[in-house]
Amino acid sequence: MDASQSSRRDIDVAVIGGGLMGSAIAWGLAKIGQRVAVLDEGDIAFRASRGNFALVWVQSKGLGLAPYSIWTMRSANAWAGFADMLRQQTGIDVGFQRPGGFNLSLSEIELEKRRTLLQAIQDQPGMERFEFEMLDRARVKQAIPRIGPEVVGASYSRFDGHCNSPRLFRALHAGMQQAGVRYLPEHRAERIEYSGGEFRLLTRQREIRAPKIVLAAGIDNARLAPMVGLDVPVRPQRGQIIVTEKTEPFLNCLVQTVRQTDEGSVMLGDSVEEAGADPSVTVPVISVLASRAVRMFPDVARLNIVRTWAALRVMTKDGFPIYDQSETCPGAFCASCHSGVTLAAAHALALAPCIAAGELPADRFAPFSSRRFHVPALAA
Ligand SMILES: Cc1cc2nc3c(=O)[nH]c(=O)nc-3n(C[C@H](O)[C@H](O)[C@H](O)COP(=O)(O)OP(=O)(O)OC[C@H]3O[C@@H](n4cnc5c(N)ncnc54)[C@H](O)[C@@H]3O)c2cc1C
Repeated sequence: MDASQSSRRDIDVAVIGGGLMGSAIAWGLAKIGQRVAVLDEGDIAFRASRGNFALVWVQSKGLGLAPYSIWTMRSANAWAGFADMLRQQTGIDVGFQRPGGFNLSLSEIELEKRRTLLQAIQDQPGMERFEFEMLDRARVKQAIPRIGPEVVGASYSRFDGHCNSPRLFRALHAGMQQAGVRYLPEHRAERIEYSGGEFRLLTRQREIRAPKIVLAAGIDNARLAPMVGLDVPVRPQRGQIIVTEKTEPFLNCLVQTVRQTDEGSVMLGDSVEEAGADPSVTVPVISVLASRAVRMFPDVARLNIVRTWAALRVMTKDGFPIYDQSETCPGAFCASCHSGVTLAAAHALALAPCIAAGELPADRFAPFSSRRFHVPALAA
């Protein structure tokens, strides 16, 4: 059947947004037999999914919300199996590795702040095992001999990993296609209407109807959510990244801000900036990223920079994900987060089945509802 005739009879779930969030959910839904359509705005859209640092990162996640640390750890633990499923289905190796991750400090003050942060995460009530180690310079040098003289120490967690993010994106899209997902590029959802248990997604091309929808439109979730009784207060947060020419392997382990890809280039990143919806690269920020990288690894100074870019994270008010379901329009779900690579396995393998079942179980998802932002208003 042509997509222009799509109705609630031939689509179980319509996913709005074909970035990493929407693709992981759509792939997960299709895997369990759901008939899925994915509407995507297209190349003019802001796309965090095309500009990230590709970490599957656990340490330092979740101060203030222990369930987020636990959700992150579960996703990281599921990642190897997830990567394997994608490879078996599509033949694409997404390059997942979990060598453990270092966060290098360039001063004693930085190192102490880091220790305090990780300990505070670990000490939260309700936390599960979240081991980390603080290493002095000698121990870091043992593990990473090429560090610069200014490195005073590091935090280390064996749970951290990384992948090849463009290949992850390609594998999810290839997998969706093979599983029969209808991918509709250049289909920006302009409006959503709901009546009689059916959602009508209005685009310039056509109208798509479905009994369930997932808002996974990145920053545009903020505009779409109120149309179906949801609240997704997200804003753009800029991050800039530098990529060098390819070089021989010199980093035998994973460092949070200096990452050698499986193809040999070195990625230096990434900044955290409140710059509105401006995806410009700026020389002052790039200079700081480059300078810190060279202080950590003097070898980096001899490499040519071949690319720089900026991309916009999808940032919630408190930095934690929002997963929610609408009370007034049953069947409408939303998903927003700033770590869509790390959480891709959880989105595909844990969130998607709940959406298919029509319910986000409160024991796992209540902490991630945007109702957490409404508490002060109610109390006032
Ligand atoms: C610099 C940087 C570094 C990062 N590093 C990491 C990292 O190391 N590890 C990690 O886990 N995460 C990282 N992230 C975050 C990660 O990239 C994002 O969490 C993830 O890409 C978010 O995916 P998304 O699909 O929600 O949003 P997006 O990638 O922004 O995609 C949104 C999609 O929705 C579509 N869309 C928008 N509006 C509409 C509409 N109305 N109708 C239809 N379609 C629509 C767009 O076309 C787009 O494809 C980083 C992000 C940045 C910017």
